[in-house]
Amino acid sequence: MTQPKYKIKKGDIVEVLTGRDRGTRGEVVRVLTKQGRVVVEGVNRRKRHQKSYQAGNRTIQGGIIEFNAPIHISNVMLVCPKCGQRTRVGIRRDEDGTRHRVCRKCGADID
Ligand SMILES: [Zn+2]
Repeated sequence: MTQPKYKIKKGDIVEVLTGRDRGTRGEVVRVLTKQGRVVVEGVNRRKRHQKSYQAGNRTIQGGIIEFNAPIHISNVMLVCPKCGQRTRVGIRRDEDGTRHRVCRKCGADID
């Protein structure tokens, strides 16, 4: 098994540490490993103004599209599902070498 680069995975609940959404918690919907960024549900909402355009003989209506923009992974912290605090993540290995993420606050296994 290869060493995961980040300790945050899709489906984790994280808390935002910086910016406009500081303190907001949400679920990680995507991890962009190459960019070192994550997309968190409801965080860093952006509006994109889309112009109407022609696609063949159809007109695609423009409008305002809302989406969650990616934020840098260092700007979020994992929220422990056991104790509910944001925490740094440790790694514990079983005797058979299986890695588990561990909450540094309460010591519980996260997975
Ligand atoms: Zn904990």
